[in-house]
Amino acid sequence: MTTTIYTADRVLVTEPNVEIIHQGAVVVTDTLIEFVGRADDVGHLPVAATAARIDLGDVTLMPGLIDAHVHLAFDGGPDPAARMQAESDPQQVALMVRSARELLSVGVTTARDLGARGYTDVVVRDAIANGTIAGPRLLTAGAPLTSTGGHCWYMGGEADSLDEVRKMVRLHHKHKVDHIKVMSTGGFMTAGSAPWYPQFETEALRIIVDEAHRVGKRVAAHCHGTEGIRRAVAAGVDTLEHCSFVIEGGESQFDTAVADAIAASDSWVSPTINVRARDFDPERFGVRIAGLKAAGARIITSTDSGIDNTPHFAFPQSLPLYVEFGMTTAEVLRSTTVLAAEALGLAGVTGQLAAGCEADLIAVRGNPLDDIAATADLEYVVARGRRFIPDVLPEIPPLPEGLVPMNKRHSFTQLNHEEPSHV
Ligand SMILES: [Zn+2]
Repeated sequence: MTTTIYTADRVLVTEPNVEIIHQGAVVVTDTLIEFVGRADDVGHLPVAATAARIDLGDVTLMPGLIDAHVHLAFDGGPDPAARMQAESDPQQVALMVRSARELLSVGVTTARDLGARGYTDVVVRDAIANGTIAGPRLLTAGAPLTSTGGHCWYMGGEADSLDEVRKMVRLHHKHKVDHIKVMSTGGFMTAGSAPWYPQFETEALRIIVDEAHRVGKRVAAHCHGTEGIRRAVAAGVDTLEHCSFVIEGGESQFDTAVADAIAASDSWVSPTINVRARDFDPERFGVRIAGLKAAGARIITSTDSGIDNTPHFAFPQSLPLYVEFGMTTAEVLRSTTVLAAEALGLAGVTGQLAAGCEADLIAVRGNPLDDIAATADLEYVVARGRRFIPDVLPEIPPLPEGLVPMNKRHSFTQLNHEEPSHV
């Protein structure tokens, strides 16, 4: 047994409320947190005399960050989908190892991968868990279920009929994925797919949810189009990815009735706000976040990192955007830690500084409760009790010149969709 006593000028807890403990301490034995409180009180604990003491000084020690929607197998460059389709599975695994290190190097200690090919994500998850490679605790989903020729079909998750979707969930379970991802609507990254079209009837989504829940897995539904969001909520999915209220033509139009339905349901919203939200019409993100918050929907942090021009190491730069879009700093700090953990089925495992949780800790300079941007000023990382020294990362690259926005890039002639119905 190895015990380490970390002390810091500020320890930030996020449950039940966001609070700063001045001159705080976190005691870790092997991979688990044993004590969180004032440094003065550590003396009263039955801590081994051999315990290591690490004084981090003028930093804020807090729970590691959670990105609820990433794609390790997308490289975050100008055309990640083309690279994925050109690469073999072993090449993809090499890329995913890099992506995982990038996430951990910016303090993301838990990430959910929502789309990879050939169960490469399961391989990477296990390699991280057994210490072969460094990365965040990874939740995997394998290939997203999609209609034939539908959004991200090239990942291998095509299924159309009720029997086919049921079988795909069982196949994923057999291959030990953690969550199930379904493309409830088309998307922006697939030629021939239109983000406003639903891809599945509500009945098919229900079968996916029932079958997944039966084997203890949560369901994440990619949904841009408003009708696809409505169906996903009706089917009882656990997280709504993007939730962007896209209407025919690709623009967004916030729908109050659907937002109310989300708030009344058990579904969480994972809005995939990333550093590029500032570049493309930030107004529509602002309307969405403010509207969902006003309706009472539960929001967790996610980026879709890996997609076009969105590097994995840009996660901390996404957090100030939630504040700009109407959430309080304390709300964002809870969304990216304890609430994200709860939404992902990891309550009591990670996402908070509490005795019994795994030791996923970061220390940042400054105080994130005063300024959320401080989360980008990383000083120290501990993942599952082990220190990780962050890699030196490149700057976040500017957008390529003359870039066509994603919603204007394809012709959006959807091949296989369920007709939009407005019942
Ligand atoms: Zn995605």
